[in-house]
Amino acid sequence: MIEYNRPLPVPDGDTKPYWDAAREHRLVIQHCADCGLAVFYPRAICPHCGSDRLHWVDASGRGTVYSYTIVHRAPVGFTDAVPYVVALIDLEEGVRLMSNVVDCTPSDVQIGERVEVVFEDVTPEISLPKFRLRRV
Ligand SMILES: [Zn+2]
Repeated sequence: MIEYNRPLPVPDGDTKPYWDAAREHRLVIQHCADCGLAVFYPRAICPHCGSDRLHWVDASGRGTVYSYTIVHRAPVGFTDAVPYVVALIDLEEGVRLMSNVVDCTPSDVQIGERVEVVFEDVTPEISLPKFRLRRV
């Protein structure tokens, strides 16, 4: 593993289960036991109904690109990665998250494109969920 010099997530009480699962290459989201809706990003209270009865479930890892941008002028720490894709991904479970679309030519990414999660192991403790185009 090469040394990773970019900012890293800092798991806290609400997000530790998410990052623990990512380290195991599982994408998880929260599900509300009271209103039945999916929740992302990780938090203590359901944004739909106010319940604190949120539990973790495995997500399919599949979704579609809601929107995206191709970064050509990157902030410090990311300049060696350009061009790269930052995208909003709508998971099949009904939540939206921001990530990168990787393993492709950035111009191949389109709104509505089907994607699936992949994990980048950046440190022994942290694996980052990213997405690649799903063309089957
Ligand atoms: Zn709820």
